[in-house]
Amino acid sequence: MSKPTTALYKDAARLIQNAERIVFASHINPDGDTLGSACALAHLAKQAGKAVQLFCWDSVPEEYSFLVGSAGYRSKVSELTPADLLIVLDCSEPWRLGEEVEQLLQVAPRRLNIDHHAGGTPLGEVNLIDITAAAVGVLVHELLAELDWQIDLPAAEALYTAIDTDTGSFRYPNTDARCLRVVADLIESGLRPNKVAERLYESNRPQKYRLLGKALDTLELLHDGQLALLIVTEAMYAETGASVEDTAEIVDYARGISGVEVGAFLRQDGAEKVKLSLRSKDGVAVNDLVKPIGGGGHRCAAGATFTGTLAEARDWVVEAVGKALL
Ligand code: AMP
Ligand code: MN
Ligand code: MN
Repeated sequence: MSKPTTALYKDAARLIQNAERIVFASHINPDGDTLGSACALAHLAKQAGKAVQLFCWDSVPEEYSFLVGSAGYRSKVSELTPADLLIVLDCSEPWRLGEEVEQLLQVAPRRLNIDHHAGGTPLGEVNLIDITAAAVGVLVHELLAELDWQIDLPAAEALYTAIDTDTGSFRYPNTDARCLRVVADLIESGLRPNKVAERLYESNRPQKYRLLGKALDTLELLHDGQLALLIVTEAMYAETGASVEDTAEIVDYARGISGVEVGAFLRQDGAEKVKLSLRSKDGVAVNDLVKPIGGGGHRCAAGATFTGTLAEARDWVVEAVGKALL
């Protein structure tokens, strides 16, 4: 699959132009791409005279609170007013819109899906889906050109956030010339990447570091040092004053070890539930690996919810990664 055709961008732009009231929906456990893309497009749609609303089943993590309009996110469908168009961003599975997905899909008669996940279920009547795009932020930037909407600084910061976070600050294999051209364009429109980096990566609470310290203490290296495992137990929150949000980048430390092919992070979410995050260095397709337990994501970054104890989740990861490394 390559870049979508001009006709597809035109279809997507027409849906937006013909709508007066638009709801923008981000996926659960929201990240910089789903939030940044939605905030940028919603902000510029508002400038263009549209009535805009933002929806996400989960709350917006603190580090993304600087994104333009993000304070307006609603998490209940009952808080939304009926619209003409629903735009679903960075989400390829209905269930990733949260528990009120059925009601959410009824909020507007027309639907546009802008996404870059492989193997999902297209959710719109127009599906601007491109699995080669580094981030949905790239697709939104290209769509804005079709709409002929000028990007201002708040929109540029939101799009930069989308691309920076989905490429691991331009370290992941999805970093390509296309996304860097978008970044160059954003810089030319006044963006200062260091300002966004400060908001995203240098505005941490000390509690986050205390939790990270405990997580790093759990480090296990397996399969000849090719798998690194890090764990956060529920008890660690009380011990450090940190919260679930403070766990977001811990998995990167697992992948960051020399010789490690797969970094795994296991977060205890109750007695029988474990959130898994897997990151690879381009060898193992971790999204395929978590498919049997209902997970998904990208080749080098995938997640899943494991039903069972922390010990069972650990054993499952060790075995599954072991097989994939063979
Ligand atoms: P995470 O480890 O939760 O940061 O997720 C890594 C990537 O996989 C992100 O692109 C997520 O959107 C995606 N992802 C996480 N969990 C799932 C899931 N259960 N199903 C599909 N995609 C997921
Ligand atoms: Mn995402
Ligand atoms: Mn994305």
